[in-house]
Amino acid sequence: MTAITTERIAACGVVGAGGAGFPTSVKLGGKAEVAILNAAECEPLLHKDKELLRAYGADVLAGLATAMRLTGATRGIVGIKGKYTDVIEQLTPQLPAGIEIKTLGDSYPTGDEFILVYDCIGRIIPPGGLPRDVGAVVVNVETAMNVARGEPVTKKFLTVAGAVAEPVTIGVPVGVTFAECLALTGGATTDRPVALVGGAMMGKLARSLDDTVTKTTGGLIILDESHPLIRRYRNDWPVIRRIGAAACDQCSFCTELCPRYLLGHPIEPHKAMRSLGFSLAGEANVIGTLYCCECNLCTMYSCPEDLDPKNVCSQNKQRLMKDRPKVKFETNPNRANLHLDNRRAPIKRLIAKLGLAGFRNVGPLIAETVAPRRVVLPTKQHVGAPAEPVVKVGDHVNVGDVVARPAEGALGAVIHASIAGRVRAVDGSIVIEA
Ligand code: SF4
Ligand code: SF4
Repeated sequence: MTAITTERIAACGVVGAGGAGFPTSVKLGGKAEVAILNAAECEPLLHKDKELLRAYGADVLAGLATAMRLTGATRGIVGIKGKYTDVIEQLTPQLPAGIEIKTLGDSYPTGDEFILVYDCIGRIIPPGGLPRDVGAVVVNVETAMNVARGEPVTKKFLTVAGAVAEPVTIGVPVGVTFAECLALTGGATTDRPVALVGGAMMGKLARSLDDTVTKTTGGLIILDESHPLIRRYRNDWPVIRRIGAAACDQCSFCTELCPRYLLGHPIEPHKAMRSLGFSLAGEANVIGTLYCCECNLCTMYSCPEDLDPKNVCSQNKQRLMKDRPKVKFETNPNRANLHLDNRRAPIKRLIAKLGLAGFRNVGPLIAETVAPRRVVLPTKQHVGAPAEPVVKVGDHVNVGDVVARPAEGALGAVIHASIAGRVRAVDGSIVIEA
């Protein structure tokens, strides 16, 4: 079999399947000492990565070995929660040379790249930095599987959980609707289902169940629209700001439990909250919000007043990013040594705080999938510029045909047809009808 190259990975349109969708060919085009497989999966109720490792562990490990070869890494690490003993037992005899397993605690946000790298190799990525700054490259489980397979990415795996008849993990053509995914669970157990896309902590509220699955959709949490979590996601900025300014008592729990602060980064959300009471004059004091990873722990877990420091930080960050200041911060490694380990947020406690304890925390991979009549493929499902369509309305395409590709020299990813059919629209999205 031909060895997988970065050119092949680019041609297949592989992007980070669990985050913003950074093009994998670019990531693996750099050099690293250690390649880390991010199998930490800490978003409550999501089980996709563990299920893929159970079903396709050999492919995932082959993808990690490919990442090592391409980056020149001599060491590979599978970062996985220690509680998944059956998966660890299954993987251990299959580990290729140079790859080891690192067991992680059952806490949030273990899957954050900065925390994962620290837990796996004890190095702290500098503020605003990347894993490569400390000699590491991190790949997601599904991404590694896609790398090993060397085929166009036309299928996406995701867990559908929450207020559903049977929580499941499914593999579906990219571009199907959330409603079609929900149907595979046996349906919602509420009359007014709303979807959180990507998870309860770092997800986004879907506009409707007609929204469609992209290469980065890792899971759907279905909830009734009256669920407190949905109400929190619907709070708008004036409300967040007004209540934050009125009710923050500066207890600093948000800072003391912030994973990035505990890594020694210069982020202190309580100072961003304090700035709300001092109008624009206070914003210069919260430059550290640039280093907020928006994990949402301060809002969903730490704050005893149910305020929203995460959104205050992200608003502040967006303002600062427009004119990114040239500031160089040093980390404080002693903080990680002192407090990181004993201030982690246990997943069980987090699930209770999110109001998700009444839902089943499972998501077995099922073989059933959908045969959609229509798919919608956005030309931007990745970090970088939108891909440029190479098809026109009326063209016939087969599964795996290229329908859009990045402009010459632009950062982006190739997009392929996920079903066979006729192109019906070419706009910000390419619509194909079977
Ligand atoms: S935890 Fe809540 S109340 Fe305490 S400082 Fe942070 S935002 Fe204010
Ligand atoms: S969202 Fe909150 S807890 Fe997470 S990094 Fe930002 S400030 Fe820290």
